[in-house]
Amino acid sequence: MPEPKVVVVGSINMDLVARSQRIPHAGETVIGGDFRTVPGGKGANQAVAARRLGAQVCMLGRVGMDPFGSQLLDNLSKAGVDATWVGRDPQAASGIALIMVDDAGQNSILVAPGANMLLAPADMDAAEAVTPELLGVTPELQGVIASAQVMLLQLEIPLETVVRAAQIGHAHGVKVVLNPAPAQPLPPELTHLVDVLVPNEFEAALLTGLPVDSDEQIRAAASALRASGAANVIITLGGRGSLLATAEGFQHFPAFPVKPVDTTAAGDAFVGCLGAALAEGRTLEEAVRWGSAAGALSTTKKGAQPSLPYREDVKALLGE
Ligand code: ADP
Repeated sequence: MPEPKVVVVGSINMDLVARSQRIPHAGETVIGGDFRTVPGGKGANQAVAARRLGAQVCMLGRVGMDPFGSQLLDNLSKAGVDATWVGRDPQAASGIALIMVDDAGQNSILVAPGANMLLAPADMDAAEAVTPELLGVTPELQGVIASAQVMLLQLEIPLETVVRAAQIGHAHGVKVVLNPAPAQPLPPELTHLVDVLVPNEFEAALLTGLPVDSDEQIRAAASALRASGAANVIITLGGRGSLLATAEGFQHFPAFPVKPVDTTAAGDAFVGCLGAALAEGRTLEEAVRWGSAAGALSTTKKGAQPSLPYREDVKALLGE
């Protein structure tokens, strides 16, 4: 078994989080409380999640030349994620999310994707074309995409870039995992390249136009997503666990009982851990259990990246 390697193609954002007694109305100014900058973006979160599970992780993305760009790259490197392939765009600002949180815990979020939206299909071609000669490295290290077992994709970068990444991954026999968030219609040329599609229940409803209020309806939505081309589908159901749909049928995975304090990034923890487990050759069923453990653990701590669990914690919860 080669060293487990995951390539993540996706967003890298700086979250600007300000707390306030209440969220201002349009045209109003409110004096708030605490302010923090926190690295985020679904791509970066999932990359860090997979790395904490022990996989080698390479991130393909784009940030600006601004100080946030430097901080975001630094954060990835400190987390042990290979950020060599994260480009810096001279024209665009780094992606940011302006997040206002009120005392009742409600939030209001504005994302300015900036450089993320300039990650282009040509960047995927460039990543595919890397040869050992170019990098001056041994053949085992060649091809940042081709050498991975698993590719993790989300929808916070241009859709055509997601499609190109999936095409290249698929052509090299890399397992393509797509977390279709935020949900948008998926072209059939993309869904047919997807080995594992992982929406949450709201995304599943949006993608299929079907209700997801009962177990039966959730199964029907999963079947519809398989019929649209994805080989396997996992619909995550928050505290109710997840449903796996494969050619063999359906399997429900209960959530691990924990005391949640903040469910931010539970999905990212799930997908990142699932990817790392698949990369080390685990079955899809095992990988869903691993993802469920990581998702559960992430809800027991505040924040996105700070709450992503490490391999030892996941194994302990799994009793391994
Ligand atoms: P998202 O964050 O994308 O909405 P979910 O909320 O469905 O994703 O969470 C992903 C997974 O994390 C779930 O399938 C479940 O396994 C785990 N999880 C989420 N919330 C809880 C919770 N309250 N208790 C235990 N596990 C949870």
